[in-house]
Amino acid sequence: METKDLYKVLGVEKGASQDDIRRAYRKLARKHHPDANRDDPKAEDRFKEIQSAYEILSNPNKRREYDEGPRTFFGQGTGRPEGTGAGTTGTTQADFSDLFGTFGDIFGAGTAAGTRSQRNTATRGKNVTISVNLKFNDALKGVTTRVAVPVEEVCGDCRGTGAAPGTMPRTCPECGGLGTQSRDQGFFALSTACTRCGGEGTIIEKPCPKCAGQGRVKKSRNVTVKIPAGVRDGMKIRVPGRGHAGQKGGPAGDLFVITKVAEHPVFKRRGDDFVVEVPVSFAEAALGAEIRVPRPDGGTVKLRLPAGTQEGRQFKVRGAGAPKVRGEGSGDLIVRAKLVVPKKLNRRERDILQALAEERDEDVREDLFRRVGT
Ligand SMILES: [Zn+2]
Ligand SMILES: [Zn+2]
Repeated sequence: METKDLYKVLGVEKGASQDDIRRAYRKLARKHHPDANRDDPKAEDRFKEIQSAYEILSNPNKRREYDEGPRTFFGQGTGRPEGTGAGTTGTTQADFSDLFGTFGDIFGAGTAAGTRSQRNTATRGKNVTISVNLKFNDALKGVTTRVAVPVEEVCGDCRGTGAAPGTMPRTCPECGGLGTQSRDQGFFALSTACTRCGGEGTIIEKPCPKCAGQGRVKKSRNVTVKIPAGVRDGMKIRVPGRGHAGQKGGPAGDLFVITKVAEHPVFKRRGDDFVVEVPVSFAEAALGAEIRVPRPDGGTVKLRLPAGTQEGRQFKVRGAGAPKVRGEGSGDLIVRAKLVVPKKLNRRERDILQALAEERDEDVREDLFRRVGT
């Protein structure tokens, strides 16, 4: 199936409301309904395309999944699992993601035009999203961590059929395996899911005891995730093929790991840079000084403060920021001078400062009042 922009199919904007989507669908469905276009052999395809688009966009969950879609995948090649662990399917995940991606869902959901062959189409498993808490240092330097992922796997006892070992699901006698029952409603031929088999087309007489006939079991699977150096809070790392198992031989979904990075009490992240406020004494600021400044990675760096450094002045230590997750190199460390005024003075210090004040004999607010115009 060709991947099309579902919003374009319905002719709506990406941010369209559910009402807009429903209205657009109704209009298009009437216009392109095969019964109204008997002379146009392509009408049916177009109609199905519109239905499929509506099926996804009208369902908030599916719509969100579609919006987030495979296109937002972050950092190709990062975060691949290292161990093989519990095997999923033997299929190459990458080859299938585009084919089945979001569209896998539209089959098996009992669309009006559903046929037996469509319902049995392999469906890609759903994605799983979890978050992982990272220490400041681990996020900065990268870390390999193991996470417990709640996934649905194919039941090993019944191999996903849902029927007790030694038995097989059999064709539904009610719908003859079609999964749908048709009712003629005038203009629209309404198809509803078969009440006996629920649209599956098959019934299970003796359910598998292990999965209670579901064909799938919930499991907590340990997955090794490589967190690249320099990740920020809220980044999304894709681990291909580590989501829920696929249906009917389809490939597994992906695992998305959202990073939650602990804040540092001193270093504040700004993009790939870090900002640190460094206390500077009056004498250092006035006279100039060479000071030592801490780096986020644990080291220190020397910084030359020029004479006459003002409060809030910023200095850049190139390359002392966070490694860039995408691309080469690292961000910078921004050092912000914070002037420290003595809280207490002894007698001698007071005399010295007094002498300095007399020597300067200045009005530091003169300029301010001049600019105000008083
Ligand atoms: Zn089972
Ligand atoms: Zn049936």
